[in-house]
Amino acid sequence: MLNRIIATILPVFPKKLIWLFSKRYIAGESLDDALRVSRDFNLQGIEVTLDVLGEFQTNKEKIEYYKTTYLETINESIKAGIRTTFSLKPTMFGLLIDKDLCFSHIHDIVSIVSKNGSMIRIDMEDSTCTSLELDLFKSLHKEFPENVGIVLQAYLKRTLDDLKDMKRISNDSIPVNVRLCKGIYIEPESIAYKKRSEINEHFIEDLEYMLANRFYAAIATHDHLLIDASYHLIDKYRVSNDMVEFQMLYGVTPELRYSVVKKDYRMRIYVPFGKDWFNYSTRRLKENPKMVSDIIKALFVRK
Ligand SMILES: Cc1cc2nc3c(=O)[nH]c(=O)nc-3n(C[C@H](O)[C@H](O)[C@H](O)COP(=O)(O)OP(=O)(O)OC[C@H]3O[C@@H](n4cnc5c(N)ncnc54)[C@H](O)[C@@H]3O)c2cc1C
Repeated sequence: MLNRIIATILPVFPKKLIWLFSKRYIAGESLDDALRVSRDFNLQGIEVTLDVLGEFQTNKEKIEYYKTTYLETINESIKAGIRTTFSLKPTMFGLLIDKDLCFSHIHDIVSIVSKNGSMIRIDMEDSTCTSLELDLFKSLHKEFPENVGIVLQAYLKRTLDDLKDMKRISNDSIPVNVRLCKGIYIEPESIAYKKRSEINEHFIEDLEYMLANRFYAAIATHDHLLIDASYHLIDKYRVSNDMVEFQMLYGVTPELRYSVVKKDYRMRIYVPFGKDWFNYSTRRLKENPKMVSDIIKALFVRK
């Protein structure tokens, strides 16, 4: 409880201190850092998805800067031969201030990625963005069905209906590519399941729907119960290895990651990098309040 309270006041902690604990979740501030980390994963047979940190942007100049950074990331990683996809948050491109401008920027980025045979995954943000991000995905999917993927959150009560809706645009030759995760934002009880057991139950229900209906399933979790349940469903529906992958975050549960890799499943690590690491880090630290005690110790206990 104390850890949770402290976690909510994390944003007022000194930035340098937060960085000490955040660096485990972030490849670094520069593209070179991200490429180095990605190359190491690739050498271990693990793929990556690169994410430029930043979100909820309202400044048009900054939005242009992010677009340039994404295009540079795509060009340089492909030039370096990194096996990667790219994840992006539409609010970084002004989704909540100018939807058309945001769609147009992301369209340009997906268009470049499609020429290189890779893909952009649209991360799912809080529930003010859900419908907008699904609309964005569907409009891009019409033009670039193989180069764009979406994320759905098992904690949202609407998710199974969203999957059923998406089934209409999925087909055997080009299945819709969905990353399924629990969801990280704080949402009201009216629209989201709150208990861990309920979220897990719906995660399994959503995943079963995806596998039974031949979606490409990117299973994003570090929860060993869900990973075991996924193995069971993959066997039940005889899903081939090219229709499923597991995804985990950089810096989280490396042993579990290797146990999945040893079973010969495709594993992809989400590798965030960039100067705007603060919001991402505080969300990760809130998820893992045990680390907050370490922060307090670092503040008050001199070694
Ligand atoms: C690849 C990937 C992409 C994601 N994309 C999105 C997205 O687009 N939108 C969105 O809302 N959410 C996203 N998430 C976050 C996700 O929704 C969950 O908040 C997060 O993954 C924690 O849930 P869990 O399934 O790992 O289960 P949990 O029950 O939270 O965790 C299971 C175990 O994993 C370990 N663990 C989990 N998190 C941490 C941590 N931060 N530090 C240390 N140990 C930890 C702990 O041992 C914990 O007991 C993504 C997650 C992954 C893995």
